[in-house]
Amino acid sequence: MYHNLNNGKVPRIQLREHHVQDLYRQLHFLKKHFTLLPLREWFEVRNSTRSPVAAITFDDGLVNNLLALPVLESLNVPATYFVCTPSLRGESVLWPDALDVACHLAGDFVDLLGTRFERRGGIHMNDTGIRPAHFIKHLTPEERWRLIDGLSNGTRPWTLPPWNQHFPVMDAAGVRALAASSLVEIGSHGIAHQNLAHLVDEEVLHELRASKSLLESWTGSLVLSYAFADGSYNERTALLARDCGYRYLCAVVPQPYAVPDGIELTGRYGFYRDRHWTGQLHAFFRYIAPSA
Ligand SMILES: [Zn+2]
Repeated sequence: MYHNLNNGKVPRIQLREHHVQDLYRQLHFLKKHFTLLPLREWFEVRNSTRSPVAAITFDDGLVNNLLALPVLESLNVPATYFVCTPSLRGESVLWPDALDVACHLAGDFVDLLGTRFERRGGIHMNDTGIRPAHFIKHLTPEERWRLIDGLSNGTRPWTLPPWNQHFPVMDAAGVRALAASSLVEIGSHGIAHQNLAHLVDEEVLHELRASKSLLESWTGSLVLSYAFADGSYNERTALLARDCGYRYLCAVVPQPYAVPDGIELTGRYGFYRDRHWTGQLHAFFRYIAPSA
C-alpha cells in the first residue's frame, strides 16, 4: 500500500510521501520476488497458489499519484488506485493532508484544543506519541476544517503553493488518465476520508454509493473495490459495502470476524519512508509469513 508520491520538486513533509525513484526501485525489487497481480486476480488466487503473489495499491487518489503511472508502465506492474471524491462535498483536499501541511506551516509545535504537539524527526507528536491526524479523527468534518483553517492562518511565509493547493485530489481528468492504462483499476476510498466505522448507516451508504457512482461515471467502468479510509471498518460497514455492489474490500489490519458472503476482504502492508527499505522489507515478509 502506497499513498503520496513526490518527484523532488517540493519538500516531502509526510511519512507516506515516497520519491518516485524510490517507488521504481521498490517495485522493481518486489517484481523480482513476487508475481504482481491485479487486485481482483490476487483475491482469486491468494488462497490456492503456493507461489508468492502480491498486489500493489495506492490510496487517497491525490494528483501526485499520477507520477506512478510511468513507473508502472515501465515495469509492467498492475495497480489499483483507491480514489477519494471530496468534490462531492465541494472540496479538493483531504483533511489528513491539509492537517499535515498546516502543521508543517505552523512550525516546531502546534496546539490542538489544548494539547501540545512537538515536531520530532519531522513529524508532530504529543507526549504520548500520538500524531495530530489521529488526535482529531473523531471530530466532525466541520470542526476539523475549522481547526485546520485556524492552524494555517497567520503562519510563517512559505515558498510552496498555498496550503490548500498542496496535495489536491484528482479530478475527472486525472482519474480518466489513470483508468486509460490497462494496468490500472480504479477503486473507491469514499468521499472525504471518513472513518466509516464511526458513521451511522445513512452516512456510510452515502460515502459508499456516491463515490462509486461518481467514479463509474468518470471511468465508464464498474467500481468493485473499496478501501476503508484509515482501515476503519466493522462487520456492519463491510455488509453495507457488499450491499452497495463492492466485491473486494481492503483494510489495513483485518478485524477478527467472519467476512460476509459474496465479498473478499484483506489487510494490507503499508510502505512508509521513515524506515530504511531493508527494515521495511523484513517487516513486510513477517507480515505475509508471520510463522516463517
Ligand atoms: Zn487513505
